Amino acid sequence: MKTRTVPSRLYLTEKQMPEKWMNVRAVMKNKPAPMIHPGTREPLDFSGIEPVFCQEVIRQELDNDTLYVPIPSEVLRYYRMFRPSPLCRAYELEEALGTPAKIYYKFEGNNTSGSHKLNSAAPQAYYAKQQGLSGITTETGAGQWGTALSMACAHFKLDLTVFMVKVSAEQKPYRKAVMETYGATVIPSPSATTDIGKKILSDHPGTGGSLGCAISEAVEVAIKSGGAMRYTLGSVLNHVLLHQSVIGLESKAAMEALGEYPDVVIGCAGGGSNLGGIIAPFVADKLSGKNVRLLAVEPASCPSLTKGKFEYDFGDTGCITPMIKMYTLGYDFIPPPDHAGGLRYHGMSPIISKLYEDKLMDAIAVTEKEVFDAAKLFAKCETILPAPESAHAIRAAIFEAEKCKVTGEAKTILFGLSGTGYFDLAAYTKNA
Ligand SMILES: *Cc1c(COP(=O)(O)O)cnc(C)c1O
Repeated sequence: MKTRTVPSRLYLTEKQMPEKWMNVRAVMKNKPAPMIHPGTREPLDFSGIEPVFCQEVIRQELDNDTLYVPIPSEVLRYYRMFRPSPLCRAYELEEALGTPAKIYYKFEGNNTSGSHKLNSAAPQAYYAKQQGLSGITTETGAGQWGTALSMACAHFKLDLTVFMVKVSAEQKPYRKAVMETYGATVIPSPSATTDIGKKILSDHPGTGGSLGCAISEAVEVAIKSGGAMRYTLGSVLNHVLLHQSVIGLESKAAMEALGEYPDVVIGCAGGGSNLGGIIAPFVADKLSGKNVRLLAVEPASCPSLTKGKFEYDFGDTGCITPMIKMYTLGYDFIPPPDHAGGLRYHGMSPIISKLYEDKLMDAIAVTEKEVFDAAKLFAKCETILPAPESAHAIRAAIFEAEKCKVTGEAKTILFGLSGTGYFDLAAYTKNA
């Protein structure tokens, strides 16, 4: 048995918490491509996006140069109710695997939304309030983003309309109930409340919906609100990765406090936000010559990085969003219904896509069975019931640890445990 010299759970103090986000684009030599207008194919500037998103969020989205962005004090105050999140040492998992590797994970599930999504929901709600909006709209698939945003909107006193993918709303009635408890209006999508929803319903009667459809509906409502509302997105875009950098900054500070540095940093990748967040400071280190491996893990059923194409595509099914250059399976790709709702998106963050294209990071795809085997082992060892999304990262961390068993190397592995799986028990039952 290894001697347990570092704590199983390390929390930074409030003073040690980062007060700035990190914008990795500032250190990337090759920047991600700009969003373009689907008709003209010209890059979109501020005014082109203004009808859809909050102004401050657009400024952040378009800023490729500012490395550190101060976190507003109101957002910091809110962060302090659920941050810092712990950096955990997976002693029990290491022991179960019999590996010489040291496995660390950053646990983001310690808030009611059960995921890292609150890190971006908080600033997005705050900026909307600052701009004087009455409310915001969004979509949610598995429900974590909608839940996080409903919490943030309750705190910053804003109305929220959530278009929730219809199959998810039916499969996860309690997710809907949580959002409603915080005051959000939840509409199963596709719905008859929007033009695009009506069209999708008449073209595909009986459809269970998809994230792409729900995005189209939420954008339509924001655009038609006469300026009172804007749309918010919980992943993929540059500003979301900026907000999520708090995960990586805290992780790096906590590891430094332990005298540790990771050989490999692993994250599950749906739209790329928790991954982009945890790797942020390590991307900067890598670009300045440090030897650290970055690894994205996606589901074999929705493999945008490992099987997709790097090209301009729409963010939504209805083709009303700008076009984004990213690894994509195509805007009309409807993934098979599966266990990891939060990873079922056809595209990938332009930042992650560019890093992958430039071979600064690796990606693997893993199957449902591999994921749940890893999830169950982790739950038994580490006490936390992981989200199926997060279990993709666990699976890859176990692969790395098993390699160390063969080579005898005591590598230091860091992965993002993006959330908990309490609303995913149907998937656990199916994979029992
Ligand atoms: C939404 C979600 C994901 C996937 O989204 P990313 O933007 O890729 O991080 C992963 N894990 C959990 C727990 C989620 O809620």
